[in-house]
Order: sequence, then C-alpha cells, then structure tokens
Amino acid sequence: MGRMAGERLGADVVVVGGGVIGCSVALRLAQAGADVLVLERGEPGQEASAAAGGILGAQMEAQDPGPMLDLGLASRRMFPALAEELRSDTGIDVRYRPCGVIELALTEDEEHALREKQAWHEGAGLRASLVSALQLGRRRFGPARVGLWLPDDGQVDSVLLTTALHLAAIKAGARFRLGALVRRLFLAAVEPRVTGVELLDATVEAKAIVICGGAWSGLVEGVPLPTGSVVPIRGQMVALSPRDIPFTEVVHIRGGYAVPRLDGRILVGSTMENVGFDKSVTAAGLLGLLSTAQQICPQLGEARVVGHWSGLRPGTSDGLPVLGKSYLDGLLFATGHFRSGILLAPVTAEIVRDLVKREAPKHELRPFSADRFTA
Ligand SMILES: Cc1cc2nc3c(=O)[nH]c(=O)nc-3n(C[C@H](O)[C@H](O)[C@H](O)COP(=O)(O)OP(=O)(O)OC[C@H]3O[C@@H](n4cnc5c(N)ncnc54)[C@H](O)[C@@H]3O)c2cc1C
Repeated sequence: MGRMAGERLGADVVVVGGGVIGCSVALRLAQAGADVLVLERGEPGQEASAAAGGILGAQMEAQDPGPMLDLGLASRRMFPALAEELRSDTGIDVRYRPCGVIELALTEDEEHALREKQAWHEGAGLRASLVSALQLGRRRFGPARVGLWLPDDGQVDSVLLTTALHLAAIKAGARFRLGALVRRLFLAAVEPRVTGVELLDATVEAKAIVICGGAWSGLVEGVPLPTGSVVPIRGQMVALSPRDIPFTEVVHIRGGYAVPRLDGRILVGSTMENVGFDKSVTAAGLLGLLSTAQQICPQLGEARVVGHWSGLRPGTSDGLPVLGKSYLDGLLFATGHFRSGILLAPVTAEIVRDLVKREAPKHELRPFSADRFTA
C-alpha cells in the first residue's frame, strides 16, 4: 500500500465525482444505509451534467436492439417516480416531461434509415410511427421527407436534476467534500483490492470506491482503464429565445436537435468533437448549431441568441458506458455514459447500489465491463 499522509478520513463508500452520476449513486447508497463520501474536485454538477440537453432519448439514441436500448428503456421508466421523489424530498421540480421526440429525415438515405428504425422499433414492441412530409409542413418544421414520432421519449432539466439529486443525497445522509481532487487509489499490499484514495491534503480509507469522474475518470492514478478507453468528446450548445415556441416535442435531425424548454428557451445541440479537455465555444461550432436550428424550423432564424456553452461527454470507443465491478476488489465503475448520462443516471445508481450491497444486479452487465478494453 502507498504511504498515507495529511488528514485521515474514512467512509464505507467513496464516490469519485459529483456529476449527475455521482449524485445519483450517492443518493441510492445513502438510502440503503451506507456511509457515503462524495469527493468532487470542483462543485457538484458543473461539468457535462450542466451542459446536457436533458433528452431522455432511449429510443432516439438507439442504433439497434440490445443491452444499451434495454438499459435506456429501464432508466426512462424510472423518471416519473424519481421526479416525484425529488419534488417531495427537495421541493425542486426537475421539469421531467414525456414530451416525445420527432426525428426528421432530410435526404433519401435518412428516410431509408428512419423507415428501418420504425420497423425494428415496432418489432421490438416500442411505439414509433411515421409522420408524412405534409403533416410535418403543417407543423412549421423545415422541409423534410418523413418524420419518426417516438412518443415515449422525453426530457428533463439536467441542471435542476443534478441540483435536486445533490440535495436529496445530502438529506439521505451522504457527505460531500468539494474542492477535493482525487489523485490516486491506494491498493492493498498483496491481494488486488482497493483500500482508499489520496487527495492533495488528505487520505480517505474506504471499503468501496465508485469511479464517477465523467470524462476525467481515467486520469486518477491506479484506475484500471487503459489510455483512450474513456475520452472527452466536446459538445457545444446554443440557447435561443423565439417569440413563440413553435413545437413542444424534442426535434432531432442528423447531426443535431432542438429541445423546447418550459422557460421559453430552445436548446440547440450539439457538436461531437474530439479535442481533448478544451471547453471552448467556437465560431464553427455556433455556425453549425444555428444552421441546424434553421433546418429544423426556419422560424428559429428570427429567435434571439440567449446563451451558449459547452461540456465534455465521457465518451467510449464503442459508445457503451463502463458499469460494474473491476478486477480490483472494492472498485466499481459508473462512467463513460457518453451521450446518455442524464437518461441513464437512475438505472446506474440502482445497479451500483445492488453491487455494493452484494445483491444480484437486475441487468446484464457484461457488455459494459471495463474488461472489454483489455480483452
Ligand atoms: C453538450 C452535451 C449535451 C448532452 N445532452 C445529453 C442529453 O440530452 N441526454 C443525456 O442523457 N445525456 C446528455 N449528455 C451526456 C451527459 O451530460 C453525460 O453523459 C453525463 O452528464 C455524465 O455525467 P457524469 O456525472 O459521469 O459526468 P460529469 O457531469 O462530467 O461529472 C463528473 C464529475 O467528476 C468530477 N471529477 C472528475 N475527476 C475527478 C477527480 N479526480 N477528483 C474529484 N472529482 C473529479 C468532475 O469535476 C465532475 O464534476 C450531454 C452532454 C453534453 C456535453
């Protein structure tokens, strides 16, 4: 084991990172009776979780049937009860809305892809229906060949969600140490087991450690994630304020989307850029987003620009999250949620809670194992 120095702290479970994933995990673990300490190098929820569009796009994001779709559907089903729980525990309305998503096909290839998607969704028992160009035109969308209506996807305000999860976790007994950068893991002398973590000014002993560090997860010394397995993928966003909101559902086209908010804004996202840990908002990024907005609905060209920002998604090479145990006893992963961390937060928290309590998880976790990067 490495030398432990500075202030000495302890907890049953240390959660590294206080984004939407770390806060959800802390809440469910604390409710299950664990003594939880969240170590966050900045403030909770200020990174990817604050940047997100908040689309609960289990079907929108699905490329094919499989474990990722199943996980997304399971998590989506948890939102009505989670929103109600957070409202009653914290007084915060996280603005969960099952508003549906409409995908628009602008080219022949995209039309073909949407028709295929509709067919396999129907085959999988999911609600998905085609919308004609005529109907789309009547609804003030830009010219499109066909649409795909996914009534069961929805949205939530990701900033309010993370704030509420943070407060609820504290109420349930979780402790948060902010401005606490986790530098490395401590390992047992002989067997492959974690015993704690090192901060700049303190050490923390723990029986279990959950890595929820988002795009930075691989930077903690000793974390068994090969270089490049979790990488930052920048997403830029712009917020528009039109005179009236032309649609109430989330609208998706190839390369972008628009999310109408109850506060009158439309969030338009998002770029996918592999540029390291750089959160700049760029001229080219904004140009692309504004053109996406006008393709979705020409009327948005008149809207005022009221904000722009960017965030770093925790991306993985296969687009799947890293979830579950590692070969180091006591070390768990809950990271790499890429484009769907808001959607997947509730199910991730329940999976981690079950694993820490040594109960059988309700989901097949093999596809999400960190071992896939080394196999
Ligand atoms: C522009 C954009 C749009 C998105 N849209 C959607 C969407 O519509 N729907 C959806 O489901 N998802 C969306 N996502 C993805 C989603 O935001 C992420 O998957 C999710 O926020 C990841 O949560 P997280 O808690 O793992 O990471 P983060 O929110 O990045 O949190 C990680 C935390 O860990 C802390 N940390 C890291 N390393 C350390 C360390 N060593 N010590 C202490 N603390 C540490 C960081 O400070 C940070 O607070 C979007 C993302 C972006 C960027």
